[in-house]
Amino acid sequence: MELKSKKIMVTGAAGFIGSHLAELLAEDNDLVIVDDFSIGCIENLANLEGRPGVRIERADITELDKMRELMEGIDVVFHMAISCLRTSLNHPMLSHDINSGGTLHLCMAAHEHGVERFVYCSSSEVYGTAQTAPMAEDHPCHPTTVYGASKLAGENYALAYWKTYGMPVTVIRPFNTYGPREPQEGARAEVIPRFTMQLLAGRQPVVYGDGEQTRDFTFVEETARGLMLAGACDDLVGDVVNVAYGQEVSIRRIAELLMEMTDRNDVGLRHEEARPGDVLRHYADVTKAKNVLGFEAKIDIEEGLRRYLEWFKAEGASRGGEGEEAERPNW
Ligand code: UDP
Repeated sequence: MELKSKKIMVTGAAGFIGSHLAELLAEDNDLVIVDDFSIGCIENLANLEGRPGVRIERADITELDKMRELMEGIDVVFHMAISCLRTSLNHPMLSHDINSGGTLHLCMAAHEHGVERFVYCSSSEVYGTAQTAPMAEDHPCHPTTVYGASKLAGENYALAYWKTYGMPVTVIRPFNTYGPREPQEGARAEVIPRFTMQLLAGRQPVVYGDGEQTRDFTFVEETARGLMLAGACDDLVGDVVNVAYGQEVSIRRIAELLMEMTDRNDVGLRHEEARPGDVLRHYADVTKAKNVLGFEAKIDIEEGLRRYLEWFKAEGASRGGEGEEAERPNW
């Protein structure tokens, strides 16, 4: 399917990955941005606000009637809105309501309006920790957290709409994404912004667990490109695809690289108890994305961290989230 000139709804577009995706999509399409601004912020939409063809709607995806209204005239949906993993540890019902229930509401509204494509942004968290690695799309899905379970329910709801009603659905499982605009405050904050803030404040990065846990980190512009390509791909309708760089990096290594890059090798690491339900190993098999989409991420972790630090110093530092706050667990 040619995405060009479609009218596209992007939920969660004021968020981190959503805003980068929306910028790519806005080049050739009219957009309806749907966000409740609970995690996302208007600064993330600075390049889109006021742009012809872009409409911003403050709305909650759990409000079915509102979703039905906004779905009018929409050709394609990229569903990016979530309640995040850390929040799920203490607010499991919120995770369920937004990630599972909200997705079902969007499927209902999208189906009623006969959309041409429904693209569900899932998460590597649906796999749970790796039983075999690298992890292809047929790796068993045994999520360790309510967040992962709620994202898996969302996937299954979306795919059920394909199987039962023939709504063209594609499910994408991005692995950890990092880069400019990555959440850095409170429960939303992820490991790279937290380590960055700690180090720039002259504090020790706080590692939960032994730091040997791994993630497969992908730079955000590349995740956004992978999402756009997968969303347009006819061969992936009714199917699932990983979007990732395809390399595992330990959390300890992330801390060490950032210590080097910020000239803070002197501070050392501090270890705290592991986060409940923490995944120990994530390493994506990216063969399918390469073969079906011709998608390959090229920005390695060193280059990506350099670009992130540059952005953080220019813009991120003024967005809040203090070094001291980053020392406390954020769940
Ligand atoms: N982590 C850490 N210190 C922090 C934040 C996170 O050691 O200040 C660890 C966390 O326990 C997990 C990994 O870094 O093992 C990635 O966490 P993040 O919340 O960024 O992403 P996710 O858990 O969703 O993969």
